Amino acid sequence: LYLLDSDQRRAVLAGTSNIAPGHPAAPAAITLDDLAPWPLAEVVRAAAPCLVSDLGASFGALPAGAWERPPAQAVVLPIARAGHTDLAGVLVAGLNPYRLFDDQYQHFLELVAGQITAAVANARAYEEERKRAEALAELDRAKTAFFSNVSHEFRTPLTLALGPIEDVLAGAGDTLPAPDRARLEIAHRNHLRLLKLVNTLLDFARIEGGRADAAYEAVDLAALTADLASIFRSAVERAGLRLIVDCPPLLTPVSVDPEMWEKIVLNLLSNALKFTFEGEITVALRLEGSQVELAVRDTGIGIPPEELPHLFERFYRVRGTRARTHEGTGIGLALVQELARLHGGEVRAASTVGVGTTFTVTLPASAAPLADVRV
Ligand code: ADP
Repeated sequence: LYLLDSDQRRAVLAGTSNIAPGHPAAPAAITLDDLAPWPLAEVVRAAAPCLVSDLGASFGALPAGAWERPPAQAVVLPIARAGHTDLAGVLVAGLNPYRLFDDQYQHFLELVAGQITAAVANARAYEEERKRAEALAELDRAKTAFFSNVSHEFRTPLTLALGPIEDVLAGAGDTLPAPDRARLEIAHRNHLRLLKLVNTLLDFARIEGGRADAAYEAVDLAALTADLASIFRSAVERAGLRLIVDCPPLLTPVSVDPEMWEKIVLNLLSNALKFTFEGEITVALRLEGSQVELAVRDTGIGIPPEELPHLFERFYRVRGTRARTHEGTGIGLALVQELARLHGGEVRAASTVGVGTTFTVTLPASAAPLADVRV
């Protein structure tokens, strides 16, 4: 079997049966202009089979296969290229010396060529698919590198701007006129907001680049979660809501990266606060079989069912919702999902518009580090 180069000027040996590659009748490559050893140019031009006789004179002894006599004739058959007019290659088949080369025999060989056509088409389709996937992965890597570089570049000037603002706010005491203080506080708050976004982007870039080295520790997850939730208590109560922390001690330590767990809990809680105007927010932690389940439940505005499948996409935000603040970029839940996956777990959302939303994070409740779990 020979496959043709894309310019159809050279054919390369792709496989042999019963004859060694490199045999004079099966050279590694044949230029189509050559007349020897096979009339490939003719077959390619006519896209029709061509019978070659008197093989003994051209090649001397050919392998005989199952018979004691070598073939005296061979057929060169075109291998079509699915969906194209030009050929994928040619098949050279030595003929049974004891059988007449009639229509039936030719038809049989054409069926063989048809099978090879299909197999080559499949292999090419697979190859194309692989190339496409590789190109996409390459694009993704470029995007991640870009995010990572840009975030780094933003972080330094932001940190440098925050320092003096904080110095003035802390040092000036009451000597600063109230309107100036208010303006500086706005600047401070927005610098912090930007810094948080940049840091989140960096987290992402690290996770996607496989550089997020989770530092797993076996921790008392109930105590850690309750501590994190209590950070929100005053903000929740100031907003006129109740905070219920329902984290009874688990029986076993759970292996998590505490910083990442903090990001998961705080992101879900700040969303709950942002989208809840009355009622309560519950943080519950339970052992469910071999899993530990964190549920952050609110009695907020809810999420329409058609939006639920997109919530965890990066930069996705539900349009036209009422929120306590319009700050947000749609990156929080995407990060929660990446962090949960990094821990070998997952996050899901259930919601009813006007009733409330529950985000549930499930992780394996193992005390052993998950060092081998990769996104
Ligand atoms: P952000 O809060 O920065 O917009 P997130 O990824 O955290 O980004 O959330 C994406 C969107 O999901 C939000 O814009 C909001 O519309 C919706 N959402 C998230 N949490 C809740 C919630 N607890 N209740 C209602 N809607 C929510």
